[in-house]
Amino acid sequence: MKRLVAWCMLALAVLSSSSAFAADKLKLLIVDGQNNHNWKATTPILKQFLSDSGRFDVEVATSPANGAKPEDWSSFNPDFSKYQVVLSNYNGQLWPEGVQRNLEKYVSGGGGLVIVHAANNSFPQWAEYNKMIGLGWRGANFGDRVTTTPEGQVIRTPKDQGPGAGHGSQHEFSIVVRDREHPVLKGMPVEWKHSKDELYHGQRGPALDMHILATAYSDKKTGGTDAHEPMVWWIPYSKGKVFTTVMGHAEQSMKCIGFQSVVARASEWVATDKVTLPVPADFPSADKISESK
Ligand code: ZN
Repeated sequence: MKRLVAWCMLALAVLSSSSAFAADKLKLLIVDGQNNHNWKATTPILKQFLSDSGRFDVEVATSPANGAKPEDWSSFNPDFSKYQVVLSNYNGQLWPEGVQRNLEKYVSGGGGLVIVHAANNSFPQWAEYNKMIGLGWRGANFGDRVTTTPEGQVIRTPKDQGPGAGHGSQHEFSIVVRDREHPVLKGMPVEWKHSKDELYHGQRGPALDMHILATAYSDKKTGGTDAHEPMVWWIPYSKGKVFTTVMGHAEQSMKCIGFQSVVARASEWVATDKVTLPVPADFPSADKISESK
């Protein structure tokens, strides 16, 4: 009898701890449906490594296809308030007013937003979105440009000076961590080699309260700017946080363990203000990329 009771207690403990673990998972919504990139291939990669981390319940909201008419948009109205993290893999038509206001309300109320690669190309005409992302894929006349010195001092270049948004040829390049104490990057090598990707340069925007966390040197040899361009940054938006990485052009770029670790840890951080996900043992080093299968 004693043994039976012990068994029952053990079973109960296991059950309650596993359900507690499930309850601990953060609800994360990926938004996609339009992009000048292959979102049908990249959303499953994002979904898989986020789910595999064990920290997130991932759902996907897919918008109507490019060219959708106003009446087609009535079915697209994600309830952002149900999630702790919204991750945008979307670059396309402007969302209906109601969806825009809902995202603003969600983030300003404390929600977390993560922007990946071309999601920062979206919505130049949406002023609050530009404030959230800080810098976007915009022309030189759109707003300030932000880079750093080799030592990491921030340089602001006013509009109409220097290049607008672009990138050189795709290549492997080094990510330099500029804020080693930030919870998302803490424990990562100060410099690590990212898989083949586009190295965005000349991003433009209001860049208010922008915290640059990592940069990459954009070499003229690969069609770049000879500047240290921001790769990872975050911006507070009222009570919420918006975290951007311009890495992640295609499938191979997203298979970089470094990229995956930045996105997963950022997703946890914007939701909870803490990071519990460890830096993986197979993280890229200064001279060697590391990719998932
Ligand atoms: Zn791209």
